[in-house]
Amino acid sequence: MIVVLLGPPGSGKGTQAKRIVSEKGWPHLSTGDMLRTAIKSGSEVGVQAKKFIDQGMLVPDELVVDLIGDRMKASDCSHGFVLDGFPRNVTQAVVLDQMLQAEGKGVGRVVLFDMTDESLVRRLAGRRTCSQCGAMFHVETLKPTREGVCDQCGSALIQRSDDQVDVIMNRLKVYHQQTEPLIKFYREQLKLVSLDAHQAAGDVHRSLARALE
Ligand code: AMP
Repeated sequence: MIVVLLGPPGSGKGTQAKRIVSEKGWPHLSTGDMLRTAIKSGSEVGVQAKKFIDQGMLVPDELVVDLIGDRMKASDCSHGFVLDGFPRNVTQAVVLDQMLQAEGKGVGRVVLFDMTDESLVRRLAGRRTCSQCGAMFHVETLKPTREGVCDQCGSALIQRSDDQVDVIMNRLKVYHQQTEPLIKFYREQLKLVSLDAHQAAGDVHRSLARALE
């Protein structure tokens, strides 16, 4: 099955995607992770993307479509995958449908992570991310055992440049303006299931698993 996780930044899509893919054995395709890897590597794509990411804006469609299009062709994607952070606007959703249709495939289910802006700001502003493995912590709700150190790999925890409050506000604005129209787009295709992303992580996981049955 091809699954799209849709929702605002900070609603827990990435964390839940990691858990569900490890259970189902599907690849996890996160455009945010791909772009951050490109930035770290210093590639041309990374240099271009960083300018947009640091301002909380969307990276140009051509750039992410190329990245995701290449990744979807890999053999591990042949039986399905989970898209996290893509599509982010209607243009990307239409291109995704075209790319999948060309292979006789289609999006099977879209799960909306529903959350208020107030909760999102609290989550994102307190989020700390491992500089090496990407594991996520929170200064109040998910503290690491040793302050500033990742429990999983021992590397330093950082605050992502796009998790600063002014950038968070921009990311939410962009979500409401550009990504939210996808709710209507997928609802009309009868593919949308929504879950309450304010719940505890275990409950969100159970809701997600039910949505994918
Ligand atoms: P994320 O980790 O999914 O929150 O993505 C971090 C940032 O990467 C976003 O704020 C955007 O600047 C960029 N980004 C990720 N996915 C996309 C996408 N599908 N289209 C455009 N920009 C994206």
